[in-house]
Amino acid sequence: MTHDLIVLGAGPAGAAAAVTAARAGLAVALVDRALFPRDKLCGGGITGRAQGFLDHTFGALPAGLLHPVATLRLSHGGQELGTLPCDPPFGTTMRHRFDAVLRGLALQAGAQDYAGRRADRIDPGTGRVTLSDGTALQAPVLIGADGVHSATARALWGRAHDPARVAFALEVEAPPRPGPDVLDIDLGAAAWGYGWAFPKAGGLTVGVGGLQPHNPDLRARLDRYLAAQDAPAGLRVKGHHLPFGETRAVPGEGRVLLAGDAAGLVDPITGEGIGWAVHSGRLAALAAARALAEDAPGAALGHYAAALAPVLDELRRARLLRGLIYARPLRGNFARMLARHPAVQQRYVDLMQGRRDYADIGLGSVLRVLRRTLAAGLDRARPRG
Ligand SMILES: Cc1cc2nc3c(=O)[nH]c(=O)nc-3n(C[C@H](O)[C@H](O)[C@H](O)COP(=O)(O)OP(=O)(O)OC[C@H]3O[C@@H](n4cnc5c(N)ncnc54)[C@H](O)[C@@H]3O)c2cc1C
Repeated sequence: MTHDLIVLGAGPAGAAAAVTAARAGLAVALVDRALFPRDKLCGGGITGRAQGFLDHTFGALPAGLLHPVATLRLSHGGQELGTLPCDPPFGTTMRHRFDAVLRGLALQAGAQDYAGRRADRIDPGTGRVTLSDGTALQAPVLIGADGVHSATARALWGRAHDPARVAFALEVEAPPRPGPDVLDIDLGAAAWGYGWAFPKAGGLTVGVGGLQPHNPDLRARLDRYLAAQDAPAGLRVKGHHLPFGETRAVPGEGRVLLAGDAAGLVDPITGEGIGWAVHSGRLAALAAARALAEDAPGAALGHYAAALAPVLDELRRARLLRGLIYARPLRGNFARMLARHPAVQQRYVDLMQGRRDYADIGLGSVLRVLRRTLAAGLDRARPRG
């Protein structure tokens, strides 16, 4: 079967790529090994930035798909640092429904459905993909949106990510908490990561995650965090990797473009990946459409890399800042800084709302506040009298 574009993976990145390409008039094959609705382990937190990308890419989403949560509580090791109102509210969602809706919109736009079939052989040189049922697909451009363990990235480079730099997260679905909905983030629940409790319509998703090599005791950390959240015992625990700051400098090779987790597009501080998946999927599809219109499919990667450059810059700045937030000697200071400076808490919220980016946060100002906090701590520790 010959198409203009093959999109491998029908999560948020793949659905965004497929809907964009199909609306641009391309013949698109949308492949996923799963039958939908399918689950994806995820907090399902949809930031303001992600909501913007979703609107821009898919248009209006069904009412009720996102559950609004208007309060964020930041803690460190169970100690509350601050509680902030969020206007507009964050959205939360269950991925089995959310992903099925996005994929449905891509099919409605005209993408051809190859669900329930794994991409078994991907030949980046020829653009030929063989599915698990033997179907052979061919296209001048491929978009690999097949997640953190991307078979497309493995076909290109032998492995999808560096195990020393990837994160691992554990999560449970808990019953809803009584009282008003609050989005909880505990920056001390995991090393180089955090814990979260996100209320949803009818439930609470609780998890901890952080860079894999720094969290050999992640299960014990989850148990402590669950106890702090008063979650009942015996909930089913699931785990999944996320490319937490393992961004690829070049998002593909030859005729192959990578989007979403396959390209490592997860914020290294907040762990947010859905918004970047949608945005990168759309940019990859636009790049493919432009290259095909120019009759130069080989130019797609160049167009895509140029469009994605500001995102890669943003994630690079976040990675630099992460060292100041999560490195062991500074971690406590960042928490103290958050506790003492409501303006810094507000910046954290603004970042998640998409009202600021890491360039606006300014490494310089963070360093200044950290220095002041550190100096105050040293002063307190100095023997008196
Ligand atoms: C525990 C956890 C919590 C998270 N919480 C949040 C959060 O609250 N907010 C947020 O924004 N982000 C969160 N993330 C990150 C977010 O889940 C990802 O960044 C996002 O799912 C990336 O979307 P994607 O489309 O790139 O990949 P995916 O959603 O992983 O989709 C990839 C698709 O590819 C398919 N696939 C894989 N291999 C093949 C193959 N060989 N053939 C065919 N199909 C294939 C899979 O079936 C899947 O449907 C979290 C991640 C984890 C692990």
